[in-house]
Amino acid sequence: MKVLVPVKRVVDYNVKVRVKADGTGVETANVKMSMNPFDEIAVEEAVRLKEKGVASEIIAVSAGPTAAQEQIRTALAMGADRGILVEHDGVLEPLAVAKLLKAIVDKEGPTLVILGKQAIDDDMSATGQMLAALLGWGQGTFASKIEKDGETLKVTREVDGGLETVSLKLPAIITTDLRLNEPRYASLPNIMKARKKPIETVKPADLGVDVTPRLTVLKVEEPPKRQAGKKVASVAELVDKLRTEAKVI
Ligand code: AMP
Repeated sequence: MKVLVPVKRVVDYNVKVRVKADGTGVETANVKMSMNPFDEIAVEEAVRLKEKGVASEIIAVSAGPTAAQEQIRTALAMGADRGILVEHDGVLEPLAVAKLLKAIVDKEGPTLVILGKQAIDDDMSATGQMLAALLGWGQGTFASKIEKDGETLKVTREVDGGLETVSLKLPAIITTDLRLNEPRYASLPNIMKARKKPIETVKPADLGVDVTPRLTVLKVEEPPKRQAGKKVASVAELVDKLRTEAKVI
């Protein structure tokens, strides 16, 4: 079966994010960008399914600027077979991405789409669910285990305070949680091989999708700076300050 893996270009998780001086968003110029960590887990899972003989081809898709090719190349170096870049400069909301992915699913006919549970830049956690709705497919979100069970997939989901196991009819959508696997590092020979793998570039208009944003971001703010702490000489002084200054007891 063909597996489609959407990978998003985001600010690297090690970078301390800075808000732009005019408060319109976060600084991305001269900042290290990487593949969204949950998408690395999705690529790893697809590659493992291919190694087990369950998946036949893995297609990595990214919607974003030309530079998002780098994240597709990373997916190719990890073991994806080919890539598709939906080139677009500017904001792409989850519904727009879900519509782009639906158009690619209609064209490519994958049996499984594995997305990250959330992109760490906007924290929307919506694209996979919206894609499932647009396609009318079943979904196993926040997956921590995926097993092929005859013609279905058994997906263990991380839910509040425990685990839930669901059986999905194929075709289906899966979104990955942190504990699903530990993604591999691409080896140098595989990075070299990935350079020769094909990446097709299309525009949203080629897919017939209008990606005009529906929301306007009014303001982005840094969290308030923490006040410096105070040292106290004794427990009695601490209790006194909690009572008279902090007024919490
Ligand atoms: P979100 O709903 O924005 O939190 O993103 C959830 C998942 O959807 C991500 O982990 C990706 O797998 C996928 N996704 C979101 N935006 C994009 C994008 N621009 N290009 C490719 N995949 C995306």
